[in-house]
Amino acid sequence: MRLILLGPPGAGKGTQAQRLVAKHGLVPLSTGDMLRAAINAGTPIGLRAKDIMARGELVPDDLVVAIVSDRIDEPDARKGFILDGFPRTVPQAHALDRMLAKKGLKLDAVIELRVDEGILLKRIEKRIAEMKARGEPLRDDDNPDVLRRRLLAYRDQTSPLVTYYQLQSVLRSVDGMTAIPLVADAIDRALRVPAAKKAGDKKADDETPKARAKVGNGKAKAKAGKRAAAAGKKAAPKPRSGTAKRPKSGVRTASGGKPKPGKSKRQQRLTKRR
Ligand code: AMP
Repeated sequence: MRLILLGPPGAGKGTQAQRLVAKHGLVPLSTGDMLRAAINAGTPIGLRAKDIMARGELVPDDLVVAIVSDRIDEPDARKGFILDGFPRTVPQAHALDRMLAKKGLKLDAVIELRVDEGILLKRIEKRIAEMKARGEPLRDDDNPDVLRRRLLAYRDQTSPLVTYYQLQSVLRSVDGMTAIPLVADAIDRALRVPAAKKAGDKKADDETPKARAKVGNGKAKAKAGKRAAAAGKKAAPKPRSGTAKRPKSGVRTASGGKPKPGKSKRQQRLTKRR
């Protein structure tokens, strides 16, 4: 299984990723973790990313795309992976599409953790204060100002991915504001939804019962239209039962031009005079 977890910082992506990794035997691919490891190891990538990350800004796309591509090529990632923190921009999503296509791989689902940003900010500020009080080490970007910037970066640059993946019919949205086990259950249910179809993928579209009914209906309509065209008539839409209106009195019908019964006496007189 190949998954993406989408959601702002502090939405609980890391926690849910850990559980999915354990449950499905997936390799966790957190670009934040990989970049922090690169910083700690003092690699060229780490040196480029360090200050950018401390400011809460996004590191350049080429850099993260390269580290994700290399990691996906490692043997353990063959059984599946879960991307956390990547893609974060539409160009990164395009790059991922190209990268996966080249490697002959496909995404199974993108799980969006929907959250209330206001509540989230308060929650994280509280967590940071508690960690400080306990004397626990904090990350460089674990401070309220940087956090606000990271939330802003999410809203501006990452949230368009919700529509991006909706259009690919792989998006599964889950309420991320409930308790951790409830979010986990919601994710499990979302992953049980049958394999998604791609927007515009006619073959896949045809595979869902709803789509089949729709397609069948469309074919019937097309046939009716052809029959009507052959008869030199326009196919009239069938009125819904109970809402059909009686034709207006005096209106000539296609079948012989005789006025229909049920006309007022005045209209019948007028018709006779004509
Ligand atoms: P995270 O641990 O996912 O919250 O990421 C921490 C920081 O790493 C972010 O604020 C960015 O500076 C950087 N980062 C992580 N993933 C990406 C990405 N896909 N694109 C750009 N920057 C990233």
